Amino acid sequence: MKVLTINSGSSSVKYQFIDTDTKQSLCKGLIERIGISGTNLTHKRHDGIKTKASDNITDHESTIEQILKILVNPKYGVISDLKEIDAVGHRLVHAGEKFKHSVLIDEEVREELYECIEYAPLHNPANIKGIEASLDKLPGTPNVGVFDTTFHVNMPDYAYMYGIPYNYYKNHSIRRYGFHGTSHYYVSHRAAEILGEDIKSLKIITCHLGNGSSIAAVKGSVSVDTSMGFTPLEGLLMGTRCGDIDPGVIFTIAGKENFTIDQANNFFNKQCGVQGISGLTNDMREIEAEAENGNYRALLALKVFSYRLKKYIAAYIGVMNGVDVIVFTGGIGENSDVVRNMTLGNMDALGIKLDVKKNKTTRSSETTISAGDSPVKVMVIPANEELVIAMETSRIVMGKE
Ligand code: AMP
Repeated sequence: MKVLTINSGSSSVKYQFIDTDTKQSLCKGLIERIGISGTNLTHKRHDGIKTKASDNITDHESTIEQILKILVNPKYGVISDLKEIDAVGHRLVHAGEKFKHSVLIDEEVREELYECIEYAPLHNPANIKGIEASLDKLPGTPNVGVFDTTFHVNMPDYAYMYGIPYNYYKNHSIRRYGFHGTSHYYVSHRAAEILGEDIKSLKIITCHLGNGSSIAAVKGSVSVDTSMGFTPLEGLLMGTRCGDIDPGVIFTIAGKENFTIDQANNFFNKQCGVQGISGLTNDMREIEAEAENGNYRALLALKVFSYRLKKYIAAYIGVMNGVDVIVFTGGIGENSDVVRNMTLGNMDALGIKLDVKKNKTTRSSETTISAGDSPVKVMVIPANEELVIAMETSRIVMGKE
């Protein structure tokens, strides 16, 4: 089956066209700055042929239109007719408690997706815009929603409950959900596959470190805990999100700045994290370069980022009563030997020893970076959320359980 995957953000859309029989990506691309000046589409075919486009992209409708145009372009495309797209798979961030699994999007589901907007007001509306545009431009083609929250649905109640009156959970579904599920699912399964082990017998900690970051404890293939919560704001320090914080800080800053609820939400999501501490940027490459140049606040941001990750790793070893494998993925996890070293250095008492040379040289490739005598394996596995979305889409369309 040939599946178009769409990951639709507020100002960017990532797409990939995947043959699920061979698991091969036929082409992929990214449209950035939608609705802002300087909109850009970059497209790359599996054989390396690339192109850029920037015309007529003003909103999500025109973005999907351009993607479809390029897929059938005689020079840069990979199909000759849009009928060759068997299905479209959409990444959806938050399902609340409404959807526990991927779904075929029909009229009823479409309505229900709108009801999920309140759970992720910063993400869900953009995801839905991608769906609406795709339903409009490809009538008759099945569309499937694959949720970031699904992999974490079997988290135990004591891991997902907040310390708030129970009726807020019962009546308003306020609980921890977790995100980046397709990524944690993919790298945990891929790690077991590479090691030739049954995932059911493994305890794995997966660290998805990108502009948004989260960590998951995967025991016997089940995510038993993860660092993001009701929203993707909880947990690790991120590019611009504060992660775990004393709620008292929110009241105090909101009071000092006279913030409305929306302004406070925006502040803790967009002006904090690595960027807030460093006062420079959310880009970890630049933070590392500045820290190297002796910038105190850049180094501090790097230390807070790695220290918090270290604490979560140690906590999840406790939660699972051990760990066999730790996996790093995402832009930072795959590329930053500095973060990996600062995080896992000095954890030999917990059985974690890095191979310093392998760690230093590994960039975005499937590699084991632990020392030969390390009881815990440490691996780098590039993220491939699109493949999971495509496989899920194919499974749902074919009606398989
Ligand atoms: P993602 O959200 O997964 O695309 O990851 C984006 C983050 O990865 C940004 O903070 C980048 O600066 C970071 N990143 C990408 N390459 C590197 C690198 N070589 N070293 C450190 N951070 C990197």
